[in-house]
Amino acid sequence: MLLKQGAPLNEALGAKKVAVIGAGIVGVNCALALQMAGYQVTLIDKQGIGEGCSKANAGHFATEQVFPLGDPSLLLALPKMLLDPLGPIALSPKHFFKAIPWFMQFFNNMRKNKRVSNSAAIKALNKHAIEYYKPLLQAANAEHLLISKGSLLVFEKTKHSDVMAIHQHYQQAGIKVKLLNRAQVLDVEPNLHANINYALFFTEVAHTGNPSHICITLADYAKSLGMVYQQSAVESINQNISSIVVSTTTEQLRFDQCVVATGAWSKNLLKGLGYSLPIEAERGYSLSLALGKNEQPLLSRPVASAERKFIITPMENMLRLSGTVEYAGLDAKANNKRADLLLKNAESVLSKLPEPVSANNNEKNERWMGCRPSLPDSLPVICQAPHHDKVFFALGHQHLGLTQGAITGKLIEQLVSKQTTDIDVTPFCISRFN
Ligand SMILES: Cc1cc2nc3c(=O)[nH]c(=O)nc-3n(C[C@H](O)[C@H](O)[C@H](O)COP(=O)(O)OP(=O)(O)OC[C@H]3O[C@@H](n4cnc5c(N)ncnc54)[C@H](O)[C@@H]3O)c2cc1C
Repeated sequence: MLLKQGAPLNEALGAKKVAVIGAGIVGVNCALALQMAGYQVTLIDKQGIGEGCSKANAGHFATEQVFPLGDPSLLLALPKMLLDPLGPIALSPKHFFKAIPWFMQFFNNMRKNKRVSNSAAIKALNKHAIEYYKPLLQAANAEHLLISKGSLLVFEKTKHSDVMAIHQHYQQAGIKVKLLNRAQVLDVEPNLHANINYALFFTEVAHTGNPSHICITLADYAKSLGMVYQQSAVESINQNISSIVVSTTTEQLRFDQCVVATGAWSKNLLKGLGYSLPIEAERGYSLSLALGKNEQPLLSRPVASAERKFIITPMENMLRLSGTVEYAGLDAKANNKRADLLLKNAESVLSKLPEPVSANNNEKNERWMGCRPSLPDSLPVICQAPHHDKVFFALGHQHLGLTQGAITGKLIEQLVSKQTTDIDVTPFCISRFN
């Protein structure tokens, strides 16, 4: 095979050459942060920019989600949920045995001391996560892609005392949140269903009208600064004394350093380097409801249902319903029935549906499945590889990859540049699994 230099055009400038593998929201942010810091970056993806899990997600900068997913209250409900193929959480019988080791670690992380330390680490990442996006979107002339109107978590049947306890739980975690009664909910979002009795209003969160566009816009901005994009599937990474060799299906590319940001697909690349990564594809679905001509989205901000475990986000020319968790492995075919079920849920949360759906015109509605890269402790991996000083990992952001994308990019840039990081990255080191 021909040994080719990565990004030869910028060699003359003497910049260090860095490969970022994976062009989801996490990889794009790493690539942009590094390119802005003066590195010559080559961003590599096998599918395209923002074509993986970052493509059609709920677009919620969910900084209020500071509690790990492994919650002991799940234990009682889990067996029923897992046996129902169309329930909010489903485990495919074919995938059952493969998933057992991941679930063992997931249950282990439900212990109180683990939940407290994992929650503290998520909080540190989420605290200023939205602020890290602002200068990037401003520089890319795309501030409109971040809409700061908060979000609602709505309740239909949950008792007032339980809603109050959840409210208090968020307050104690330092999250800015207001408890609204039915009349107040309808003041904030008039098109919600009369079923809704209470809502928690998270006033400091944000959303985007187009998650895929954020990836493409930030990547375009990085390209305008000299970043090179290459569409290739990476098969292995090798570090030698002076460089990194990234082998794709057709060639070998040489770099000074490399960042692995391959989301749910990361296991094999890391295995090749000698690291174990207990990652599961937590498959989620979205159904994007087209709006009628000149029809306004029915909501101004994301509305999540606490009981139905899904979220509705107003987006450009559509209303997107997203949610559900399915453990079926990376390669199983999407089960679009799961996406269609989201519509049933929306009927109970909204007082009306967008015009085309009400007119039984479902052709334009897009169904999508994405593989959330989930680790059993709900923390991402953001670190320098312990045994490879030229390799860095930015992966495993589970339900929060969009939220934590920009801060992850900054932290990776600081690690690559051997600077002090803005927050302590010790909890995110891969050594916790090795
Ligand atoms: C239904 C749903 C709703 C969600 N809603 C939200 C939300 O509202 N807010 C939020 O913060 N998060 C949300 N998420 C989670 C979020 O989408 C993910 O955490 C995020 O997209 C992960 O980004 P990533 O860059 O790590 O992975 P990806 O976007 O999956 O990118 C990884 C990339 O790596 C590439 N790749 C993999 N292997 C190779 C290889 N060997 N060679 C070359 N390229 C490779 C892939 O092609 C892919 O493009 C949601 C997820 C789902 C499924």
